[in-house]
Amino acid sequence: MAERILVSACLYGEAVRYDGQACTQQHPIWQEWQQQNRLISCCPEVAGGLPIPRFPAEWIKGDGHNALIGKPVRLLDSQGTDVFSEFYKGAQYALQVAQRHNIKIAVLKSKSPSCGNDLIYDGTFTGMLVDGIGLTTAVLQQAGIQVFNEHQLAEANTLLNQLDQSSTHRGDLELGLAKR
Ligand code: SF4
Repeated sequence: MAERILVSACLYGEAVRYDGQACTQQHPIWQEWQQQNRLISCCPEVAGGLPIPRFPAEWIKGDGHNALIGKPVRLLDSQGTDVFSEFYKGAQYALQVAQRHNIKIAVLKSKSPSCGNDLIYDGTFTGMLVDGIGLTTAVLQQAGIQVFNEHQLAEANTLLNQLDQSSTHRGDLELGLAKR
């Protein structure tokens, strides 16, 4: 069976972002994946119980400690409400979805405090970015899932083709053994 890819629901076209918008992808690689029925969408923040729209949230440097991220940070929305538990619940849900479909690749929305995989907003709500990853990305990576963002589709596709080839090879070997 073809490898599936876990994708951020907002990239898939669902209006689930904090501002009630989507970030629908039109790239040819994405469209090919869609035609091949590979995409499984999930919005961790909504799955964790947060509404649409909602206040934006960012990782804030502070006295808390997030063992998952390994840094003294807290996750607050722009009104100062701690939303870590909702984000954590959503990240665990995304992991369950990925495991149900035996997923090894995720393509998640860049810069998000849940889905980002290289840069996140710096906690000042001023649009400044710092190195860092979102909570769902951290949970998926810890489970061995490769996380890309929407600007890394070619890299994700290369890995996908490798996985497809190795599963075809495995299937051929099993067929050969069965025929003996
Ligand atoms: Fe998109 Fe992820 Fe934010 Fe949901 S949590 S709106 S999927 S970036």
